[in-house]
Order: sequence, then structure tokens, then C-alpha cells
Amino acid sequence: MREAAADMKITSIECHVLLDPDYDVSATSSAQDDIVVVIHTDEGVTGIGEVDVNPWIARACITAPSTHSMGLGLAEMLIGRHPLEVDEIWTDLYVGSAMNGRRGAMINAMGAIDIALHDLRGKILGEPCYELLGGPVREAVIPYASLQPEVTSYEAYRESLLAWALDARARGFRAAKAEVTLAGPYAHMGIKVDRPFERTTEIVAALRDAVGPDFTLMIDVQYAFPDVDTCLATLADWHDFDIYFLETPLWPDDLAGYARLAEQPIPIASGEWLTTRFEFLQLLDQGRVRVAQPDIGRVGGLTEARRVADLARDRGLTVVPHLWKTGISIAAAVHFAAATPHCPFIEYLPADLSESALRKDLVANTPPMVDGVVRLPTAPGLGIELNHDALRRFTDAARAVSVGVAS
Ligand SMILES: [Mg+2]
Repeated sequence: MREAAADMKITSIECHVLLDPDYDVSATSSAQDDIVVVIHTDEGVTGIGEVDVNPWIARACITAPSTHSMGLGLAEMLIGRHPLEVDEIWTDLYVGSAMNGRRGAMINAMGAIDIALHDLRGKILGEPCYELLGGPVREAVIPYASLQPEVTSYEAYRESLLAWALDARARGFRAAKAEVTLAGPYAHMGIKVDRPFERTTEIVAALRDAVGPDFTLMIDVQYAFPDVDTCLATLADWHDFDIYFLETPLWPDDLAGYARLAEQPIPIASGEWLTTRFEFLQLLDQGRVRVAQPDIGRVGGLTEARRVADLARDRGLTVVPHLWKTGISIAAAVHFAAATPHCPFIEYLPADLSESALRKDLVANTPPMVDGVVRLPTAPGLGIELNHDALRRFTDAARAVSVGVAS
């Protein structure tokens, strides 16, 4: 491990607001936009981070000037700090922005900064991030395939899910998650079906039949159930399907509903939208979910995701991060899982199956899946490089949308 200069300083933070030129506002994909932050130091070392939130909002959270002592600006607090003070910076940003933040977009923006600080720390010390998160507990991380079909009829939706599950298995994935969303706020592309929960059960049964018994199958219904009783009545028919977890059956504020779901045998997973360990404390202790799903950027970065993992560990629970972004977040999740014993999977959207040009092109060397696993990267930090041509293209697309917005 290298030594770092005692007087090293953060000198600036770049915020790149990016948009996929072919973005579709009606598509269910938050991978179409991005904010990438690059933190610079006076010794020329840089760190890269991103977060899954509207990038214009995140940029405003970072660049807004301080206006009073409990409403300090994130960038202003960051500049001049020693880049190895990762935990201390997190606390100072959290407290200094408290009157504007504590939850929501301000924590999301802090997540992008925190990921960049972990990248920076690894590069300064000459170590991959997982070595500085406690050291590797495995040689490779197991990705699960995650894909949502973009089709417009129930029949095409069902067939697409079945074909995709078989494709995932053929590609070497050992696990896959199907987004079976026929009701609720994500109800797919306006597909209207009668008896949506009976149809959901039919699709889940068909998926298990298609992939066979020796394949890990997760189901995400994306907040589809209107209430816990409808959910419990539906799940009573799922006991033979061997579902690894059911993701976000209820709206995240319905902690009492989640707690009742703990009485049935299928493990419940949730947490993709939550920020800070404090929201996870409520989800785990009041909502009694069995799989915590922090999005590493959104929850507040690798620092806060590790704290959520500690909460899960202390309760004998599993952590499986949410991930629907570019190679930056994939790398962050690989390092997180590499150093977290109770993280058996990471979510993984294969680039060639993604509709998002950002997912395909932004990072030049996204950790690849080979033979069903992602080997641990060995380069310092996150171990990724941005594709600067792609960065320019996505920046231009975002600027084109910004034109005409009064400021
Ligand atoms: Mg989900």
C-alpha cells in the first residue's frame, strides 16, 4: 500500500449531466440518464462516481452555494478536504446539508460523491476498493440477470419473459429476476389485463417450469399490490415455485403491510429507493424484510451501503444491492459484494440486452460476466475508465434537452 501526502487536498468536483440521445420518457428505465462526478486532487489523482437520480437535481444538490450554517453546499464542503477522510467527509456533508437533506436527493447526490471518494482512496493507496472495505471474502461475484421487456400486449409480455429467462440461463447466469408487473404504478406500458394477480401467478409458474428446478428465480412486482391482503392471498398459491425473493410487493411506506408479509414463507426484498441506514433500520425492524436492497449510489454511497450491510448482518439477513445503471455502479457493486459475506448476488443488466446507450458505452471496461461470474478486478480504486467520446455525446444530448428551460 502506498503512502498519501499528509497535505493532499480535493481541488474541484466536475458534475456531468448525461442523457441517452434515444431516451424515452415512457420507458421504465432509470438507466437513460446519469450524473457522473469526477473529484480532482492537487496531486492529479481523480475519483469517479455516479448515482441513479435525475441528474439535473443531483447537480443542483452538489453545486448549490451555502446559504447558512445548516444549509452548506456539498461541493463547497468537499473542496479543501483530504481525500482519505472518507467517513468523516460523509458525516460532515450529512450534518452540514441537514436542513436541505438528511434523506432524498441530497443523500443520492452524496452517494455519487462517496463512490468517487472510494475510487480516489483506492487509487491513492494503490489498492482495489474491496481491499479497503475489509478485504475480499470471495474470488468472484455472482450476478443475477435482470431485464424488463418493453412490449405492449400481455401475450408478448409473457412470452418475452419466458424467452428471456431461458436466454439468461443459456448465457451462463445462475440466477435471474423477472419483473412481472401487471398492476400498480409500474403497470407495464399500459398493458391492461383482467385479474392481474392471477395472471402474475400464471407467469411465475410458467417461468419456474421454463428454467427448471436448479436455477435461482427472483420476482419483482414493483409495488403492484394495492394492499397486503391481496398480496397474501396471491402468495398463498406460490409455495411450490421456490422463489428466492419477492421484491417490492407493497409501497415502501406500508411498513405494517411488509411486517405482515414476514408471516408467510417467501422472503421479501425491498429498499431500492431508500436513503441512509436510518430508513433501512425501519425497513428491517418494523417492515421485517429478509433481503435489504440498497442502491449503492442512492442510499448514500459505498460508505452508507456498508452500514446497511452491517445492519443486515447483525440481524442474520441478506443484502443484495439494487443496480440499474452504468459500469460505474456495476464496479461499485462488485467491490461491495467482494467484501460482504452475506451478499450472495448483485443485480446485473448485460450491456447487449440493455436499451440504454449509457449502459453500453459510458464505461470503457465494465467488469464482465464470464461463465456466470464476475471476477474481482485488480486495478486500484473501482478499476474503471470513462469513455470520453461517449461522455461528450451524452453531455450534448442532455444540453439539447436543457435548452429553452428558463433559469
Ligand atoms: Mg425493482
